[in-house]
Amino acid sequence: MSLPILKKVEELRTHCDLVRASGRRVGLVPTMGALHEGHLSLIRKARSEADEVIVTVFVNPTQFGPNEDFERYPRNLEADCRLAEEAGAHLVFAPNVEAMYPPGEKTRVTVADLSAPLCGASRGPEHFTGVATVVTKLFAVVGPCVAAFGRKDYQQLAIIQRMVRDLLLPVQIVPCPTVREPDGLAASSRNRYLDEGWRRRAAAIPRALSLAQAAFASGERSAGRLRALVRAELEEQRLTIDYVELAESSTLEIYADSARLPARALLAVAVLAGGTRLIDNLLLGEEAAPVARLGGAVLTSGGAA
Ligand code: AMP
Repeated sequence: MSLPILKKVEELRTHCDLVRASGRRVGLVPTMGALHEGHLSLIRKARSEADEVIVTVFVNPTQFGPNEDFERYPRNLEADCRLAEEAGAHLVFAPNVEAMYPPGEKTRVTVADLSAPLCGASRGPEHFTGVATVVTKLFAVVGPCVAAFGRKDYQQLAIIQRMVRDLLLPVQIVPCPTVREPDGLAASSRNRYLDEGWRRRAAAIPRALSLAQAAFASGERSAGRLRALVRAELEEQRLTIDYVELAESSTLEIYADSARLPARALLAVAVLAGGTRLIDNLLLGEEAAPVARLGGAVLTSGGAA
């Protein structure tokens, strides 16, 4: 394997300083590893925007709650390096926890308001404080011109964009579309926790989003009725709903059931499939439905399923 793996902050900083000094643009793709097609699309996008792409693989402890899956989160650095290289990355940074959080560290970055609803409400606002803190550290070490983030984690992307604006950070954030499996399920490292049965039932998530998009396209503007439609589709497959929310697409303010939606709104869902927490979202009025439903038959973008 030829892709260099760095583990020390100073090594990465020196490397990136040299790359920038030679006039090359550095692109950053932060990940927690267990790379899949979603991550690879970010790497390819970063490669198209930068001369040198750094992929970071770090399961960040500060964004996990005490009862979450930090310990069992899938880790496979060797496979990740191979995939990252194939997608066009130049280097993988895989630090240990002490490298990113030196003993006695006390500093956190919090983006107020945007961190509170949706996943902030169910996982706790510390979740996004952990995300914003680790991304700030990675920006500080790498000094990237561009950094790619997936729309699959819509709230996270909104928080990083706001953080970059508020802190005047010299990095361009490149949002990337959600990559989906053939049945519409968003690619996720956590999908590998699903057994066959839950994997099949999880396909109700993109179906529910698509139903809502179709209803919205036909003129449905009631937040309550759209929520009910999505919930029913998820519950039919015995998925446990964490939240189904309609929110303003930039402020993430939640629409009450009585609200009439504007021409564009965020539909965001989080469910538990067995013990596995899965999230997904769709911009109603803007994005294509992940699964097209025609006369009772379910069609994926590739054809009849
Ligand atoms: P993670 O390793 O899950 O923390 O994700 C790292 C980056 O990959 C984040 O910017 C995610 O939004 C992005 N990502 C994860 N899954 C997908 C997907 N299915 N499509 C596009 N981007 C994704």
